[in-house]
Amino acid sequence: MAYAISDDCISCGACAAECPVGAITEGDGKYVIDANTCIECGACAGTCPVGAPSQA
Ligand code: SF4
Ligand code: SF4
Repeated sequence: MAYAISDDCISCGACAAECPVGAITEGDGKYVIDANTCIECGACAGTCPVGAPSQA
Protein backbone atom coordinates (compact mmCIF):
# COMPACT_ATOMS: atom_id res chain seq x y z
CA MET A 1 0.00 0.00 0.00
CA ALA A 2 1.10 3.57 -0.62
CA TYR A 3 2.13 5.84 2.22
CA ALA A 4 -0.22 8.50 3.56
CA ILE A 5 0.33 11.57 5.75
CA SER A 6 -1.67 12.01 8.94
CA ASP A 7 -3.05 15.21 10.45
CA ASP A 8 0.08 15.34 12.64
CA CYS A 9 1.86 16.95 9.66
CA ILE A 10 3.27 20.41 10.44
CA SER A 11 3.88 21.24 6.74
CA CYS A 12 7.66 21.51 7.06
CA GLY A 13 8.19 20.19 3.53
CA ALA A 14 11.09 17.88 4.41
CA CYS A 15 9.39 14.79 3.02
CA ALA A 16 8.60 16.40 -0.33
CA ALA A 17 12.30 17.19 -0.78
CA GLU A 18 13.24 13.56 -0.12
CA CYS A 19 10.62 11.78 -2.23
CA PRO A 20 12.39 10.27 -5.27
CA VAL A 21 9.29 10.34 -7.45
CA GLY A 22 7.75 13.70 -6.52
CA ALA A 23 4.65 12.14 -5.04
CA ILE A 24 4.35 14.64 -2.16
CA THR A 25 2.82 18.09 -2.55
CA GLU A 26 1.59 20.77 -0.20
CA GLY A 27 -2.10 20.45 0.51
CA ASP A 28 -4.62 22.30 2.64
CA GLY A 29 -3.09 22.41 6.11
CA LYS A 30 -0.79 19.44 5.54
CA TYR A 31 1.25 17.71 2.87
CA VAL A 32 -0.34 14.95 0.82
CA ILE A 33 0.93 11.88 -1.04
CA ASP A 34 -0.33 10.85 -4.46
CA ALA A 35 -0.99 7.16 -3.85
CA ASN A 36 -0.74 6.38 -7.55
CA THR A 37 2.78 7.83 -7.75
CA CYS A 38 4.23 6.59 -4.43
CA ILE A 39 6.62 3.65 -4.84
CA GLU A 40 6.58 2.82 -1.09
CA CYS A 41 10.25 3.57 -0.51
CA GLY A 42 9.68 4.88 3.02
CA ALA A 43 11.96 7.92 2.65
CA CYS A 44 9.22 10.30 3.80
CA ALA A 45 8.60 8.34 6.97
CA GLY A 46 12.31 8.30 7.72
CA THR A 47 12.61 12.06 7.23
CA CYS A 48 9.50 13.40 8.95
CA PRO A 49 10.20 15.03 12.37
CA VAL A 50 6.73 14.15 13.67
CA GLY A 51 6.20 10.69 12.19
CA ALA A 52 3.23 11.75 10.08
CA PRO A 53 3.74 9.49 7.02
CA SER A 54 2.84 5.85 7.44
CA GLN A 55 1.86 2.97 5.24
CA ALA A 56 -1.90 2.75 4.89
FE1 SF4 B 1 7.63 9.31 -1.86
FE2 SF4 B 1 8.77 7.11 -0.90
FE3 SF4 B 1 7.16 8.54 0.68
FE4 SF4 B 1 6.14 7.16 -1.36
S1 SF4 B 1 7.16 6.30 0.48
S2 SF4 B 1 5.65 9.28 -0.83
S3 SF4 B 1 7.76 7.32 -2.89
S4 SF4 B 1 9.15 9.22 -0.17
FE1 SF4 C 1 4.50 16.99 7.10
FE2 SF4 C 1 6.32 15.31 8.04
FE3 SF4 C 1 6.27 15.91 5.46
FE4 SF4 C 1 7.07 17.73 7.23
S1 SF4 C 1 8.12 15.80 6.75
S2 SF4 C 1 5.67 18.09 5.49
S3 SF4 C 1 5.71 17.26 8.97
S4 SF4 C 1 4.68 14.82 6.61
